[in-house]
Amino acid sequence: DAPQILVLGSLNMDLLLRVPRAPQAGETLIGHSLALLPGGKGGNQAVSCARQGASVRLLARIGDDADGRALRDALARDGIVLDALQVDPQEPTGRALVMLEDSAQNRIVVLPGANAALQADEAALAQQLQGAQFFVTQLESPLPVVLAAVAAAHRAGCPVLLNPSPMQPLPDSLWPQLDTLVVNEVEAAAYAGCAVTTPEEAAAAGQVLRARGVARVVVTLGAQGAVTVEQGGCRWQPAPQVHAVDTTAAGDTFAGALAVALAAGQSLAEATARGVRAAAVCVTRVGAQVSIPTAAEIDAQAQLPAVKELP
Ligand code: ATP
Repeated sequence: DAPQILVLGSLNMDLLLRVPRAPQAGETLIGHSLALLPGGKGGNQAVSCARQGASVRLLARIGDDADGRALRDALARDGIVLDALQVDPQEPTGRALVMLEDSAQNRIVVLPGANAALQADEAALAQQLQGAQFFVTQLESPLPVVLAAVAAAHRAGCPVLLNPSPMQPLPDSLWPQLDTLVVNEVEAAAYAGCAVTTPEEAAAAGQVLRARGVARVVVTLGAQGAVTVEQGGCRWQPAPQVHAVDTTAAGDTFAGALAVALAAGQSLAEATARGVRAAAVCVTRVGAQVSIPTAAEIDAQAQLPAVKELP
């Protein structure tokens, strides 16, 4: 049976501007192209889960506008259950301005719009969590709503995967409610309060976060792959070498694939390998949701470098 996942998060219409390089202050330059593409961390993670074969329900909020309808239609094409999707009568659908340089470097500005008005009522949450094997969320939605939903999932016995991005201060009471925390190197460094660039430093940061009560920590390290920290020890799964053109949604692709594998009962090491393979495909394509691979596309990809145990 397909694992059931509840995702709470943001939906944005991405305005993707491809440029040779970012302009300097006061400079005008000629760009390559402009496209409107579905994005937002909640939507991206829901799509990643759905393309791994999970049965996904998304709790999110759009505006009553063309962007919102286009996002809803795209999610529906991925088979995502949208009965909890809210339509804001006033605020526009969230937007993100994504500037992508030839070097694959991106610069992103988000306008939250309707995402900032997302609501989660306790009774509705309890119902939406019924039958869910995992609850997945990020921080592009209002923090009080995210915290209430994490608490509801924890109370209901549904394991929580949090990707605390964009970074913001979090209460100490949150950490023990988390089954799996997925952070990139910047977030790992900020939340743990230490430098993180190497796999060894990622493992040390993961141990700091585990000491606060998180059961399992995964630190993503871009082209270096990911480090897992759990009771059984620390491991580094290097990424395969690929030609990266756009890393937008790499972290979301990773988180979704990881969640589905964990919900299906795989070990943290197996689930991380799946996440690293999925994200390696994502970075070879331009765009957010359009770049997220299906399970079959991941299976067709080359094998991963061997896992290394870390002290
Ligand atoms: P983003 O914000 O760009 O979505 P992130 O900062 O949340 O990403 P990263 O650590 O940069 O997270 O990337 C997530 C995962 O994507 C990595 O753990 C890795 O598996 C994969 N990845 C990212 N960049 C590359 C790359 N150049 N080559 C191969 N895999 C990559």
